[in-house]
Amino acid sequence: MIAENIIYVQDRITAACRRTGRSPEEVTLVAVSKTKPVSDILQAFECGITNFGENRLEEAAQKLPDLAGQALRWHMIGHVQSRKSDEVAALGFHLIHSLDSVKLARRYSRFAVEKGITLPVLLEVNVSGEATKSGWIAYNWEKDDAVRLTLWHDIEVVLTLPGLDVQGLMTMAPIVENMEETRPVFQSLAALRNNLKQTFPDRNWQHLSMGMTDDFDVAIEEGATLVRIGRAIFGERE
Ligand SMILES: *Cc1c(COP(=O)(O)O)cnc(C)c1O
Repeated sequence: MIAENIIYVQDRITAACRRTGRSPEEVTLVAVSKTKPVSDILQAFECGITNFGENRLEEAAQKLPDLAGQALRWHMIGHVQSRKSDEVAALGFHLIHSLDSVKLARRYSRFAVEKGITLPVLLEVNVSGEATKSGWIAYNWEKDDAVRLTLWHDIEVVLTLPGLDVQGLMTMAPIVENMEETRPVFQSLAALRNNLKQTFPDRNWQHLSMGMTDDFDVAIEEGATLVRIGRAIFGERE
């Protein structure tokens, strides 16, 4: 099942790239293995998947050591409480997608400096405006000066912190009936990235982490470089 699902997902990625003249190599598939057993992860790995996403510290802390020695790249995609930041940072994630506050950034930075390492991170932003989502509030950032000022100020602070390698932005689109409805959210994130690129041109804004099982085709059409896909690969979660 997992092998067939992966082929199906990869075909959809390729098709979305083709529709917009992108190369499939620009898009990294992150298989979201949360709640799924290590045996499922190994099956996906045998099919050539090397990037895996987890959203909870406790679960990641159990799985990562079991798979140490494999050439896996782990992505932290879930909200991290500040008091757990050291434990998350110590797990050695390839990329932390969910940096969502200045407070958390300061803690990661302090940990990285203490350990003499650099933490690769994405800034999670909430462009849809849903109250239940984490991330910096960026709803209507193009028109709302107050939102933009706060956001710019916070990002400027984060960019000055040592030990963090900010590589781009991450967002989650709302759950909708028709995936086409998510397009404005992805467009807004891409526009925000382009704007930040102009404002902070000497920094790296290469990544847009957006798109999940129900909307990744649209996200890729709008410029996603990382898609985080769980159910379409591993099946429904309990
Ligand atoms: C669970 C999760 C995903 C994957 O969702 P699916 O709908 O299973 O593809 C992606 N991103 C985040 C942040 C998640 O928590």
